[in-house]
Amino acid sequence: MTVRIGVIGTGMIGRDHTRRIQQVLAGAEVVALSDYNPDAARAVQADLAPAAQVYEKGEDLIAAPEVDAILVCSTGATHEPYVLAAIAAGKPVFCEKPLATTADGAKRIVDAEAAFGRRLVQVGFMRRYDAGYVALKAAVDSQIGAPIMVHAAHRNPTVPEHYLTPMAIHDTLIHEIDVLRWLLNDDYVSARVLFPRKAARSHGKLRDPQVVVLETAKGVLIDVEIFVNCHYGYDIQCEIVGEDGIAKLPEPMAIQMRLDAKLQNPILTDWKDRFVDSYDVELNDFIKAAAQGTAAGPSSWDGYVAAITSDACVAAQEADGEAVAISLPARPALYN
Ligand code: NAP
Repeated sequence: MTVRIGVIGTGMIGRDHTRRIQQVLAGAEVVALSDYNPDAARAVQADLAPAAQVYEKGEDLIAAPEVDAILVCSTGATHEPYVLAAIAAGKPVFCEKPLATTADGAKRIVDAEAAFGRRLVQVGFMRRYDAGYVALKAAVDSQIGAPIMVHAAHRNPTVPEHYLTPMAIHDTLIHEIDVLRWLLNDDYVSARVLFPRKAARSHGKLRDPQVVVLETAKGVLIDVEIFVNCHYGYDIQCEIVGEDGIAKLPEPMAIQMRLDAKLQNPILTDWKDRFVDSYDVELNDFIKAAAQGTAAGPSSWDGYVAAITSDACVAAQEADGEAVAISLPARPALYN
């Protein structure tokens, strides 16, 4: 079966996912496109999907009989209504992060999907599909013993002026929030945020770097350094300390050089290059599940937990180093 996909939001990631479906992956084709800016949708149609129909409204694309499954790649604030409409239509939907911009919005999606009674939503937490994180999870599950501590870092070379302190949580830490919970098979119970002195390259409205300390229900202590003006490169680090040993996320493959009297390995500078393969694998997972009329991978529940945790971390940014409690409601049976 070829899954007929409609893409809502044809900006940077919507265009890239359309390219994946049309040129890289098997089992699906893009038959419909929609964007708030119709010229953006028509440009993607011309470049990548000439047979696709362009819809002015995302709601009409979701309802279209030729569309079997939907990709929501529009700006974050628009995700919730589109995902709810897809659930109401009984169609599998892949939603880029965030699932919703508020925890209440994410809860409405969880409730709608649980009431529908079958998984339809996959959230775009692509790190779970990265080969390095998959290998790290295997080591955590079977080799290093019960986890005790995690040391992680998320570093970007620079960010624009419109990137403000809470975005370090909602836009950046959100990936660590999901992937660490998945690696540890655990949930968070509290968050603290500590700020060292502000880095010289940090612009006026941004407190950078910062350290987020998360505690889990099983008593694991996690520190994540977020440093988005680190200057030297895009660098994701993760080390898990267990009872019997330590497992570390592998570095991206790079040619080691002996050059100019130095032994050197290049470091990536663009985040798109770091996880490029994982986007292929996550969408392949979506296509396979959508062909069966369902969804796999990171769920609405995972998106909801990430939203609750993000809100607690943003509150902790304002709490002078005090811990902010994180409590989750009961998990619906659909997500067990
Ligand atoms: P983008 O380049 O700004 O594209 C978003 C597109 O959605 C724009 O063309 C925008 O049109 C359009 N849009 C806005 N409101 C809409 C609506 N109501 N209906 C339909 N289209 C609408 O942004 P992006 O970088 O692709 O990011 C899109 C989403 O993907 C965000 O939620 C982002 O967090 C997520 N993302 C995830 C990853 C990841 O690593 N998983 C990476 C990148 C992005 P206008 O420009 O006219 O507003």
